[in-house]
Amino acid sequence: MKRWSNRCQQCAAALDDHGRYQDQFGPYAPYRPIDDLRLTNGIPQDAELHRCVHQAYCPQCGNACLVSVAETSDWQ
Ligand SMILES: [Zn+2]
Repeated sequence: MKRWSNRCQQCAAALDDHGRYQDQFGPYAPYRPIDDLRLTNGIPQDAELHRCVHQAYCPQCGNACLVSVAETSDWQ
């Protein structure tokens, strides 16, 4: 499985992980945000592939984005 590169798309600096995106929505709707992301941000549907969406923030240029990372990744 391919690892997420964890790089800013604007300046290629290493991104900081700000946690799982879906945690913001509480435990009662863990999958809905991913469905929404598919429509609004073009992130592939990875829930069935044991991936999850994280919020990421670039400390260099301030770019905030969402990344899909493997749950088995060491980036947690
Ligand atoms: Zn950046």
